[in-house]
Amino acid sequence: MKEIGHWINGKHVPGTSGRFADVFNPATGEVQARVALASKAELDSATADAARAQVKWGATNPQRRARVIMKFVDLLNRDMDKLAEVLSSEHGKTIPDAKGDIQRGLEVMEFCIGAPHLLKGEFTDSAGPGIDMYSMRQPIGVAAGITPFNFPAMIPMWKMGPALACGNAFILKPSERDPSVPMMLAELMQEAGLPDGVLQVINGDKDAVDAILDNPEIAGIGFVGSTPIAEYIYGRGCANGKRVQCFGGAKNHMIIMPDADLDQAADALIGAGYGAAGERCMAISVAVPVGDETADRLIEKLIPRIEALKVGPYTGGNDVDYGPVVTAAAKANILKLVETGIAQGAKLVVDGRNFNLQGYEDGFFVGPHLFDHVTTDMDIYRKEIFGPVLSTVRAKTYEEAIGYAMDHEYGNGIALYTRDGDTARDFAHRINVGMIGINVPIPVPLAYHTFGGWKKSSFGDLNQHGPDAFRFYTRTKTITSRWPSGIKEGASLNFKQME
Ligand code: NAD
Repeated sequence: MKEIGHWINGKHVPGTSGRFADVFNPATGEVQARVALASKAELDSATADAARAQVKWGATNPQRRARVIMKFVDLLNRDMDKLAEVLSSEHGKTIPDAKGDIQRGLEVMEFCIGAPHLLKGEFTDSAGPGIDMYSMRQPIGVAAGITPFNFPAMIPMWKMGPALACGNAFILKPSERDPSVPMMLAELMQEAGLPDGVLQVINGDKDAVDAILDNPEIAGIGFVGSTPIAEYIYGRGCANGKRVQCFGGAKNHMIIMPDADLDQAADALIGAGYGAAGERCMAISVAVPVGDETADRLIEKLIPRIEALKVGPYTGGNDVDYGPVVTAAAKANILKLVETGIAQGAKLVVDGRNFNLQGYEDGFFVGPHLFDHVTTDMDIYRKEIFGPVLSTVRAKTYEEAIGYAMDHEYGNGIALYTRDGDTARDFAHRINVGMIGINVPIPVPLAYHTFGGWKKSSFGDLNQHGPDAFRFYTRTKTITSRWPSGIKEGASLNFKQME
């Protein structure tokens, strides 16, 4: 069986801890590989090598660093098909969706090619007599990224691109569910000219994560995953004096106003609710139609669209809409929450519980579900389901609808469907959510803006990618200097004021 180890100092290295995790093909349910789970000793040793390699990389001029990333982008395009195939086989998403996953990472890498410009400091000429003041951005040293299973190409690139462009060494701890693509990204980085040791990929589970949290040579950590783990990593990482940003779970609402184009809204809900089997942090999992008439018409439009969805393996061709979920445990959890929804009184309008795909009986497929008359006290409303399950919560008014979203503990993304500009503007200003779509269902900002939620969807001060990433992966130093050296002011014990 294929064995996936670690990528250390520019080589594939087998694990030495003796611990492994199974990597499944979610479409068939078969174990296709096993991945090594690193020990603290393995993580610490790779980090020490990374710290040594960082010294030279950090001193390399930013344009040369950017050229490595430019070359990487070319190689990524060259290998797009191969990467997408491997990604789909471990994650389960369709090939076009896998290409989207790679593409949205690639766009952040393209943004990072602008590092020489983004890393320019600030300068004040003659801030005082003979005094100039300037600031510079320096790498933080060794940074680490801990990433989730659902975007095994995009999120590792969101982390490694800015970290490396800023001159840091980077330790990537990808998800143990789909570790192959991150390893392939490391190979491509080497082919692009990244010096050995600057990027280490350490596979593992909690042991590896705890080793990252406690390693004094790691100065900053970027995490993406579920909220309980985000809170844990943020707390322990900060307590250890590190710079930490953690992006957590979500429960994204779409509010549909009575004046909305309901066909457009229904199409958007299908893509955003069921795409990637609902395993997206920006998936829409709650529809909030305003008014019973809007709700009835929306449900009427959704049912045939949902029933027409084709669920299948990534090898099933272009008409497959979504694939299996990532593990048997994920499937069981989704189906358990569906049962809870029924028990708590929600109306299951489309029932995907008995979905079965001939020839793929052991795959982790979940049929599409639609709930109506969901209320805000139900588990299916409060918890992140991370599956192809859309809940409809009916609101009487716009105020009631935005109140639901405002009161929810998560605040990652949200969408509003309306034809009214006044409502749209009011919504964008008042809502306490990080990423807003107006007639756009999955408002993932492009690479040159920043990505991040509010409330329990994000911990830390700065967002991912865009200019914030360059702030996160650098430290600012401000220098006040006086030339020529001959200026004499005499001694003064007063706090200096510039004249
Ligand atoms: P997860 O929290 O289970 O795992 C994320 C990472 O944390 C993995 O690398 C995993 O190995 C590690 N981990 C898991 N358990 C741990 C523990 N007990 N201690 C230390 N480390 C641990 O998340 P997942 O299931 O891989 O991904 C899905 C979640 O990620 C969803 O909640 C989704 O909303 C969220 N997500 C958020 C964003 C965002 O930007 N906000 C983006 C993508 C995914």
